Amino acid sequence: MMFSPELMRRVLAYPIEKALKSFGYLPVRRNARALVFICPFHAEKTASFRVNRRSNQYLCQACGAGGSVVRIYKEFENIADEMTAIAHVAHIIGISSKELRLQRNVPRQLTYAERMDADPARWRAKLDWQQRTRDDRKAKLLRGEDPW
Ligand SMILES: [Zn+2]
Repeated sequence: MMFSPELMRRVLAYPIEKALKSFGYLPVRRNARALVFICPFHAEKTASFRVNRRSNQYLCQACGAGGSVVRIYKEFENIADEMTAIAHVAHIIGISSKELRLQRNVPRQLTYAERMDADPARWRAKLDWQQRTRDDRKAKLLRGEDPW
């Protein structure tokens, strides 16, 4: 199961800076490209945790922790799975539970025709089988046997 690309775009755009602020972390430095924090995932005195402002992704240059705003919440809120963490951020940015359900792409089973269409060889195999069956019946009829 997945959320739609549109929902993911909105969720992933929620600024990591705001997320970290809600957990009590403020940037110690900022420039045009990045915000720099004391890493929340390891003990350090020199700030190594950089948030890229354009991509809204983080990377700690000391411990290697990295990811998106979804991962921030997953780690801080101790959320076990990705989908729940995404839903958590979605709620924070004001997406309702109803909309969240609508934005879910629930994979469904393909219909028989879709499975066949996905693989032309299967159609050919089916047609060949039908032809063989017909030929077989014809041959039995000619031999005076019961074709069924
Ligand atoms: Zn770190």
